[in-house]
Amino acid sequence: MSETLNLYRLQKIDTQLDHIAARLKEIDQALSDDRRVRKAQSVLKKAEETAQKAQSELRLIETKVEDQRLKRKTTQAALFGGNIKNPKDLQDLQMDSEALARYIERLEDEQLEAMIASETAEMNLEDAKKALTQAKGKAAEDNAALLGEKTALEEELAKTQREKAATLQGISASNLNLYQNLRKTKKGIAVASITEGGCSICGQSLTPADLQSVRSGSELVYCPSCGRILFSP
Ligand SMILES: [Zn+2]
Repeated sequence: MSETLNLYRLQKIDTQLDHIAARLKEIDQALSDDRRVRKAQSVLKKAEETAQKAQSELRLIETKVEDQRLKRKTTQAALFGGNIKNPKDLQDLQMDSEALARYIERLEDEQLEAMIASETAEMNLEDAKKALTQAKGKAAEDNAALLGEKTALEEELAKTQREKAATLQGISASNLNLYQNLRKTKKGIAVASITEGGCSICGQSLTPADLQSVRSGSELVYCPSCGRILFSP
């Protein structure tokens, strides 16, 4: 068996190993970082902030309403307490009381709005919590599929590495060295097969003499354009 054929086989195996390694990396990234869960978490965080803000605005307006009610109660007590006899003073108190009543009415409208806003924010918060639970469930389902794929890939990796070890038996140390250096400088592809009389990687057409030497397999022939080892299938 010619060394060129073994180098070509090694190339195929290494390409496969590269694909397996790339996919395993993707899976590990997907497992450690699920976009849907992160998105649902950020929606929930915003909903929590909105609900807290609505809640404290409601508290504030409730306190205001209570204060003004108390104030009006005091005014009413003074008005009907019988201690104040001066008609001008009584008239002023009456006006104060009416003004307070109008103010309280306005505040109560605001209070109602704040209550609605707070209830809406609470509902949105509940929805966001449910959405996060769902996103986590979906991620777990997908992760189960990904974990299955990972196991299969790891088995394929072990099998391919055994094939590689067997193939390496038929390659000399010097050729292996050449091959490894080419892999580093040629984007992982050191061996190019010949298709339609030319290099399958860069497309360079070859002279009949070159084609003949590649076919004989007695020595390594390099593509005159891209410099890869040529192989004739
Ligand atoms: Zn080429």
